[in-house]
Amino acid sequence: MSLGRSILLAAARSDRLNSFATKSRIVKRATRAFMPGERPEDALDAGAKLAADGRLLIYTKLGEALTALKDADEVRDHYFWMFDEIRGRKLPATVSIKPTQLGLDQSESSCMSHCFALASKAESTGSALWIDMEDSTYVDRTLALYEAVKAKYPRTGLALQSYLYRTPKDVERLRPLKPVIRLVKGAYAEPAAVAFPKKADTDAAYEQIAATMLQMALTGECHPIFGTHDLPLIARIGARAEEIGLAKGKYEFHMLYGIRERAQQQLRSEGHGVATLISYGDAWYRWYMRRLAERPANVLFVARSIFG
Ligand SMILES: Cc1cc2nc3c(=O)[nH]c(=O)nc-3n(C[C@H](O)[C@H](O)[C@H](O)COP(=O)(O)OP(=O)(O)OC[C@H]3O[C@@H](n4cnc5c(N)ncnc54)[C@H](O)[C@@H]3O)c2cc1C
Repeated sequence: MSLGRSILLAAARSDRLNSFATKSRIVKRATRAFMPGERPEDALDAGAKLAADGRLLIYTKLGEALTALKDADEVRDHYFWMFDEIRGRKLPATVSIKPTQLGLDQSESSCMSHCFALASKAESTGSALWIDMEDSTYVDRTLALYEAVKAKYPRTGLALQSYLYRTPKDVERLRPLKPVIRLVKGAYAEPAAVAFPKKADTDAAYEQIAATMLQMALTGECHPIFGTHDLPLIARIGARAEEIGLAKGKYEFHMLYGIRERAQQQLRSEGHGVATLISYGDAWYRWYMRRLAERPANVLFVARSIFG
């Protein structure tokens, strides 16, 4: 892992920096490149504009690792509201949650019932639920959660991370469920015991797992989603799909709001399924630091927006 990335991921865990940054209006302004605003209405309004080109939207309220179980009820209720807003505004949108935001650390059973309630609400409003993957200590519990919810609500999706050595086996484990998988590279600082320390290895693993997912899609065993901004990789995935005869609508590309916007439009105009994930909420510090760590050059961009 590069020094810049390690420093930024370490800073992501600092409570003092969190408290400083979230109070700073200047830093807040710099986050606007990656999120339209803190209010859910900001995210909904921005999404309505993006959806004009036929792309899909995914909404996520920032915040993770709750300290009190009762806070999870508020998060669940907020997402109930969000699903109603999505339907009311006729947006082609889904919602992506983090299990720790729904109390996974405090009570697995309570987190499970929140996920069932949200998947049910998603289904009744014509939407779907996504489950994000957090750091490696949560993978077993998140897979168990996904298996239970997916069995009842087939449109539910799960993120898997190519930097983890275990992921090819997890894909095989999920195969009988016909999973909806969003493959990402992985955003957390992980030890070499569980994840590739070198980015080149993570990238190579991504391509291999992507090939497996495309092959599974041919026989209806997976709905593959590729959550990446890596354009050469995206081109190779598209070429591979064409080579094996998998039609464009059978797989999708998902990217984050504010990143590679032109590429999102281009892929859409080529007939690919494209979704933009839009984050909102005031708990943006850790998430924002992970975005900076993905591309340390972003720090210069932030510095420019702070110092004019
Ligand atoms: C839809 C979606 C959902 C995600 N969900 C999860 C999840 O559940 N769990 C998880 O661990 N991670 C998640 N991630 C984050 C992911 O793991 C990566 O950290 C992130 O996508 C960066 O990797 P990359 O695939 O874009 O490739 P990289 O090789 O890191 O980047 C490729 C190129 O994209 C551009 N780029 C990438 N990131 C940025 C950035 N922040 N700012 C500007 N340019 C950038 C750069 O030009 C870079 O050279 C998600 C990502 C997406 C797109």
